[in-house]
Amino acid sequence: MQRLQTRPIKVGNLIMGGNNHVYIQSMTTTYTKDIESTVKQIHQLEKAGCEIVRVAVLDKVDAAALGEIKRQIHIPLVADIHFDYKLALEAINQGVDKIRLNPGNIKDRSKVEMVVDACKAKGIPIRIGVNSGSLPDGLEPTAENMIKVAKGHVEILESMNFFDIALSLKATDMNLMIETYRLAAKTFPYPLHLGVTEAGTAFSGAIKSAMGIGILLHEGIGNTIRVSLTDNPEIEIRAAKEILKNLNLRNDIPNLISCPTCGRIQYDMIDIAKRIETYLQGVNKHINVAIMGCKVNGPGEAKHADIGVAGGKGEAVIFKHGQIVKKIKEAEVYDELVKMIDEF
Ligand code: SF4
Repeated sequence: MQRLQTRPIKVGNLIMGGNNHVYIQSMTTTYTKDIESTVKQIHQLEKAGCEIVRVAVLDKVDAAALGEIKRQIHIPLVADIHFDYKLALEAINQGVDKIRLNPGNIKDRSKVEMVVDACKAKGIPIRIGVNSGSLPDGLEPTAENMIKVAKGHVEILESMNFFDIALSLKATDMNLMIETYRLAAKTFPYPLHLGVTEAGTAFSGAIKSAMGIGILLHEGIGNTIRVSLTDNPEIEIRAAKEILKNLNLRNDIPNLISCPTCGRIQYDMIDIAKRIETYLQGVNKHINVAIMGCKVNGPGEAKHADIGVAGGKGEAVIFKHGQIVKKIKEAEVYDELVKMIDEF
């Protein structure tokens, strides 16, 4: 897979764009001014694998909390600001690593210049975010119109010699989202933040996001992703990791292979598969683990797995790369797999 080259930008200690990692990001659901809850949620997101986190900044109290939040977390912090340049200045002053702001929404050019100068002084980028649901002047949500709006914002920053830009062009319609990002990749040299906006709840939203984001990543488009779900943001991270792993864009995420089961199943493998899946969420290495229903077909069907288990009556066989290496009792399967995953 050939990644499209973009201008690299620095986001905290990360470089985004070009051939660099496609970063996983999410947004907190807490009130930002509630520092304790926000930091707690960010720590949970970090543990789940989130690499960049965004918080909503609605007022001065939110903005004033950013420095303390930043001190207590370990991943780049992005301040999401809509119209108020003073909040942007305070966020930059508090030490955030990136701001999300559409300069065209600030009517006075001198105020935009103040924000741009502050970003330049601190070396932090600006993400311009255009969403299909909030285009100005009653514009129809089409790919061309979204690009036109984004261009307006980009040109303001470029006219001030500011090029540390990232762009998002999210649509709730997956096909429009794909079309718009394809056009954006041809139009702009900047890193793209991919996402389907208002994608829905965990199950349907994750599928919709995986399709939209996955199709674009497969074409080499996209430098950071957010799976937006109406759920705990940790689920967003899990979904994002699945997307990147299946596109071979990350080699630090485990892969669980499990058969759909059939009339040949001989043990309670669905429960084991679910428990192992939960365990693997805390593992940061590339390992293929297979949980198969029967020992007649299982090892052969999952011969590409690094380690695996296939059930028999009250017992199971452990296999490595399709070869059976030992036989254990069914009750020992979970612990044995965990031990092998840890040792791998
Ligand atoms: Fe059926 Fe065995 Fe294949 Fe699972 S591994 S689907 S139980 S044949």
